[in-house]
Amino acid sequence: MSHEVDAWNSSLNVPLQEEDREIYDLIQKEKYRQYSGLELIASENFTSMAVMEANGSPLTNKYSEGLPGARYYGGNEFIDQIENLCRKRALQAFHLNSEEWGVNVQPYSGSTANFAALTALIQPHDRLMGLDLPSGGHLTHGWQTSKKKISSSSIYFESMPYQVSSENGYIDYVRLEENANLFRPKLIICGASAYARDWDYAKLRKIADQHGAYLMADIAHTSGLVAGKEVNNPFELCDVVTTTTHKTLRGPRAGMIFFRKKNDLETRVNNAVFPSCQGGPHNNTISAIAVALKQAASPEFQQYAKQVCANAKALGEALISHGYKLVTGGTDTHLVLLDLRPVKLTGSKVEKICDMVNITINKNSIPGDVNMLAPGGVRLGTSALTSRSFKEQDFVKVAEYLHRSKMMKDFVLACQDNEDISNLKNEVETFSTSFPMPGFDPTNLSSNLTPSE
Ligand SMILES: *Cc1c(COP(=O)(O)O)cnc(C)c1O
Repeated sequence: MSHEVDAWNSSLNVPLQEEDREIYDLIQKEKYRQYSGLELIASENFTSMAVMEANGSPLTNKYSEGLPGARYYGGNEFIDQIENLCRKRALQAFHLNSEEWGVNVQPYSGSTANFAALTALIQPHDRLMGLDLPSGGHLTHGWQTSKKKISSSSIYFESMPYQVSSENGYIDYVRLEENANLFRPKLIICGASAYARDWDYAKLRKIADQHGAYLMADIAHTSGLVAGKEVNNPFELCDVVTTTTHKTLRGPRAGMIFFRKKNDLETRVNNAVFPSCQGGPHNNTISAIAVALKQAASPEFQQYAKQVCANAKALGEALISHGYKLVTGGTDTHLVLLDLRPVKLTGSKVEKICDMVNITINKNSIPGDVNMLAPGGVRLGTSALTSRSFKEQDFVKVAEYLHRSKMMKDFVLACQDNEDISNLKNEVETFSTSFPMPGFDPTNLSSNLTPSE
């Protein structure tokens, strides 16, 4: 005999569309926005249908504090298998040997992965050096201002930044070495959110070794390119490598920490993630990371990573041919930094104009900027649109749209519904919707979604 559903449980098997119309409609609108615009935010990507399916699975119901084989809860037979598979695939995707490297796949996101890594590597008030935020570094690498310690990485640890040269935009390793001699850090963090060039790990290792410091690479932005062997390999010389899984790696939103199996780093990292910094792992996310890592280890992903970089080069060159200036003059990665000061514009203004024509970008500070609140550039990335099968010639078109948007600068403030702007917006929409959309079927979506029954 089977039981009836109690009245108070009657909502539990109702699809979202019926159960919560407001949220459902907003999701539909967001799907259309993603489909109909040019997504150039360098930290974003379009993940796959399989990743989203795992991410939205009933694995979200399970508590599993601890590690596979050593949990604080029962019922983890399959959860253990999922996390073990995820860890195995993480090592495979990054071409690592399990004798030398291990990985923790439980961090909720990149920032929490970084704080856990700091907790594992150094003591409160120990000194760390990371790339300065205005130079393209990340908040979690020790960011503070003269007025305020902003990131927990500067609240709980003593931080001193290193910077890019304001002349050429490249990391100033010479000054980093000099300052490290004065500051004597216990940890040097490399990796960035807005730096278009590759890293010299040999130089960084040498500087870290002069002080017996750990070297940690945060490859949040470039992990897909590391997996695809398009950039230098940080695993050769670093002690710990952290990453997000949702940027170039194209997985769900989460983080991972890789550690060398030396100096007890395995225990230190695992204990730092849980119980020091987190509670129960998000098993739905871990299964989705496993799916993304399987994809990242495939020959197709290598082609994707290669195309991402070729597209960034094509975008950069096309912008230069329209008369723009790039920080460092080019790129080794998935992103270009466009210096808008020579054309007398701010990043905020160009970001706003682009938003009006369905081009999504973000303002970014440029080496030599004096005012943090009025950044002089924008950051453009090719990873998302490459997932939509854009090639070099499509990015030449994207550069043209960016150039035409910038030409609108004089109208924008005067009159918001300028006809040229709406024409360009329509043109961008037609162009964008002519490309495939990863993860979902966009055919029944439209710009003016009307509520249905
Ligand atoms: C995006 C990013 C992070 C943080 O990731 P979240 O998932 O947003 O917390 C950390 N480090 C770098 C270099 C990043 O670019």
